[in-house]
Amino acid sequence: MSGDVAARATAGFRQRYGGEPAGRWAAPGRVNLIGEHTDYNDGFVLPFALPLRTVVAAAVADDGRWSVWSELDDEPVEFGPAEADEPGRVDGWAAYVAGVVWALRAAGHTVPGARLAIASDVPVGSGLSSSAAIEAAVLAALVELGGLDLPAERRPRLAQRAENDYVGAPTGIMDQSAVIRGRSGHALFLDCRTEEVEQIPFDLGAAGLAVLVIDSRAPHRHADGEYAARRKSCERAAEALGVAALRDVATGDLDAALARLDDDETRRRVRHVVTEDQRVLDTVELLRAGRIRDIGPLLTASHASMRDDFEITVPEIDTAVEAALAAGAYGARMTGGGFGGCVLALVDADAADTVAAAVTAAYADRGFAAPGTLTVLPAGGASRLD
Ligand code: ADP
Ligand code: MG
Repeated sequence: MSGDVAARATAGFRQRYGGEPAGRWAAPGRVNLIGEHTDYNDGFVLPFALPLRTVVAAAVADDGRWSVWSELDDEPVEFGPAEADEPGRVDGWAAYVAGVVWALRAAGHTVPGARLAIASDVPVGSGLSSSAAIEAAVLAALVELGGLDLPAERRPRLAQRAENDYVGAPTGIMDQSAVIRGRSGHALFLDCRTEEVEQIPFDLGAAGLAVLVIDSRAPHRHADGEYAARRKSCERAAEALGVAALRDVATGDLDAALARLDDDETRRRVRHVVTEDQRVLDTVELLRAGRIRDIGPLLTASHASMRDDFEITVPEIDTAVEAALAAGAYGARMTGGGFGGCVLALVDADAADTVAAAVTAAYADRGFAAPGTLTVLPAGGASRLD
């Protein structure tokens, strides 16, 4: 795997299928700036698209079947309408592609057969949403190859269905919204109840800032079970408080709500969700006012809340946050569901390398495997390249 990601997709296409692709479509990974475990509580999130992309080189196949190749796996996978129409028939990574075909067909679209070659710079399984990137890139390719009528605002829901119902991964709408609707120099404010989105100015480059993304490389310990437990706890708390979801607990009513709950753990879970929603709203207000540096304390407060109240961080993650702050980051927090994954830190662009080196040194001191580091600016969403 070397060279530009789009060139690799084209080279893969030529090598696997012969001839030239009809076009190339790309979709980015994403990172969530703030708003963790708020999505399933009908609350707010604020992700942005990354400059790392998954690219699909594609052309129509006249036999009405689909062939997919990814540089992550030498073996191409082939399937037809029968396999696409039955979730589970195509498994492994190609299920993400078959799932998109399935979701399009289930929504009544006539999907053309296609040959697809996929290359990606999005790290797989690190929490930067390589899954939404592959879905969104394949979706963009199939929609255009087939001349299908599917406006951008309806695409996130369809890609989410592919992942939920065909792949079988119970994820919310955030990832697909961010990678499809993200805009350069902006973060995407998403209301998970109404699914309304709003572009919020977040022009780090113009402000001389950057986000340092640190891949903790921590093994995901018990992540699925713990996620389910947090979710259940939030649902039970909402029921006990007589609200549809924790989003309905106003910040000003938090203390009164907490007083009505009878165990300390539930109180802390609720406090995280309610204060986190408020931190997203406060972040949006500051960004609207162009005060990017001032969101730093909100990011750090979000981390403390995840560590102390929601209890979803691990030592590698806490170490990365502390080291980034000590090295001068304006704010830092874990991003993603927890128990591993990535940390993000808001830094001066010219300090990004110093902060990254400080985190790497802190990891070495603690005997942790070296972290991955990456400096990013908010990028655009899924699009056709040529
Ligand atoms: P994340 O979205 O955080 O990267 P997920 O577990 O949700 O992690 O999705 C990762 C899975 O998506 C991979 O295991 C693979 O099945 C699929 N995938 C993502 N990108 C690619 C790619 N470029 N080629 C093949 N499969 C991919
Ligand atoms: Mg994913």
